[in-house]
Amino acid sequence: MPIRILPPQLANQIAAGEVVERPASVVKELVENSLDAGADHIDIDIEKGGSKLIRVRDNGSGIVEQELVLALSRHATSKIADLDDLEAINSLGFRGEALASISSVSRLTLTSRTAEQTAAWQASAAGRDMQVDIRPAAHPTGTSIEVLDLFFNTPARRKFLRTDKTEFGHIDELVKRLALSRYDVSWQLTHNGQSVRRLKAAVTAEQRQKRVATLCGRAFAEHAAFIENQYGDVKIWGWIVAPGACSAQLQCQYSYVNGRMMRDKLLNHAIRQAYADTLQPEQQPAFVLYLELDPRQVDVNVHPAKHEVRFHQARLIHDFVVSALTDALSQLTPHPELSAAL
Ligand code: ADP
Ligand code: MG
Repeated sequence: MPIRILPPQLANQIAAGEVVERPASVVKELVENSLDAGADHIDIDIEKGGSKLIRVRDNGSGIVEQELVLALSRHATSKIADLDDLEAINSLGFRGEALASISSVSRLTLTSRTAEQTAAWQASAAGRDMQVDIRPAAHPTGTSIEVLDLFFNTPARRKFLRTDKTEFGHIDELVKRLALSRYDVSWQLTHNGQSVRRLKAAVTAEQRQKRVATLCGRAFAEHAAFIENQYGDVKIWGWIVAPGACSAQLQCQYSYVNGRMMRDKLLNHAIRQAYADTLQPEQQPAFVLYLELDPRQVDVNVHPAKHEVRFHQARLIHDFVVSALTDALSQLTPHPELSAAL
């Protein structure tokens, strides 16, 4: 075969292979866009585990009509402009690929209005060349993105979808994680028309605690202690459960780096090391932890779905987390001689 440039839809479908694993991945990309747009209210409606419909509606900045075509194009982003920006990312997105990828494997419509516009516009892209069609629509300030029939044109992918219940389970878990990343945002999640989660914005310490209790369960809330520690401009805060109270029921292990949810190896290693001697083999640590540091000190451009980061000063961050948590845990764990004396 001769060498040829792939048509846009096919190129986007290939890119979609990396970031759009299942309906929950679509929800993640759309909600991250809403958060980047400054939304503080996000509604998520799902039908049939997301295989029929995923709709994310926000009250963020919206997209101007002239930029709708770009929003749906690959390698088009408003979040970075040059290498300096890439090295100090403070938005959740920056790759400019999500909408193009998702719209190449579904029937996607984007409806948006900025505060300055008097009317809303709706855009969708279809076909090999992903021609964008734009028409007037009705919408308050903000953006709604509707994704219908995910993977309808990529049967091999569609086959990998699990039952609606399983796929929705992944979405619900993701929404939990996201809701723990932004207490100032109010969230709504429905499945097949039924309300599943409704979380009001949590502003005070008490309201935050309540959100943690709602999302991580009563047992977690009862045993978790608030911790906070800082070293230079690196800060860690959140809730951890004393080793004695960790149990199989307490399956809460959430960590965030600069507000981004993570499954980071270094962080997990540090957390385990802090707990190490105090946990029985069958026990799991339970925590909700937030690490905050200068964005120039972390590289988020490591994984297309951004589950991992690279810390420039890995050793220092690791040791800081270990020592902050070891300290906090030692204060939580009753001293053996003391408890024996009681
Ligand atoms: P990225 O998030 O990496 O920039 P996306 O493909 O996810 O790439 O989105 C492309 C662009 O469309 C964004 O940079 C942003 O300008 C715009 N956009 C997408 N979703 C929204 C939204 N909900 N509100 C406002 N703008 C949005
Ligand atoms: Mg994005």
